[in-house]
Amino acid sequence: MITHEDWEATVKFHGHICPGIVVGHRACWYARQLLNLSSPSLAPEYVVVAENDLCGVDAVQVNTGCTVGNDGLIIDLQGKQAFSFIHKKTGKGVRIVLEAPLWDSNHPIELHHKVKLGTASPEEAQEFFRLRNQRGEELLKLTDEELFKVEEIDRKIPGKPRLHPVFRCSRCDEQVMQPWAKEQDGEILCPRCGR
Ligand SMILES: [Zn+2]
Ligand SMILES: [Zn+2]
Repeated sequence: MITHEDWEATVKFHGHICPGIVVGHRACWYARQLLNLSSPSLAPEYVVVAENDLCGVDAVQVNTGCTVGNDGLIIDLQGKQAFSFIHKKTGKGVRIVLEAPLWDSNHPIELHHKVKLGTASPEEAQEFFRLRNQRGEELLKLTDEELFKVEEIDRKIPGKPRLHPVFRCSRCDEQVMQPWAKEQDGEILCPRCGR
């Protein structure tokens, strides 16, 4: 069950209330309920696949303990508000997809572009922050069934080694892992020097 403290912790970590953080937070707790998971960290047994790298992945990291750093969170960019929670050994789990509209118009998105590009007036920036917060609060009030559709999935995620032998770059002397090191005219170059 979602508690007030969990929600507070998510908002504190993320820094603001917005549609994305609500979706991520609610998806985590819906998944916990559907899969009957009660331990604070799902990381030892579960992997989460997020189909976007937006606000909601912060909620995943806070509420499941599956993080980018511990390899419990895989970002698979599909442009979707969808999160899969998959048991590492069995491959069984659920994919939770946002059904309710993330935004109720494109207006806040246009404002967001201006904010990011630095062309928004102070009033436009304020308006964006207000609409972002407002839409987040609206989504928060919906039931799980109104927010999401759920798919049962059976998808084994193959392990992917992330540590590799380390070389020193011939030019800058910085350490670089093998997949990023490039041999060029008898030198080993890091991506920055080998450009
Ligand atoms: Zn956000
Ligand atoms: Zn270098």
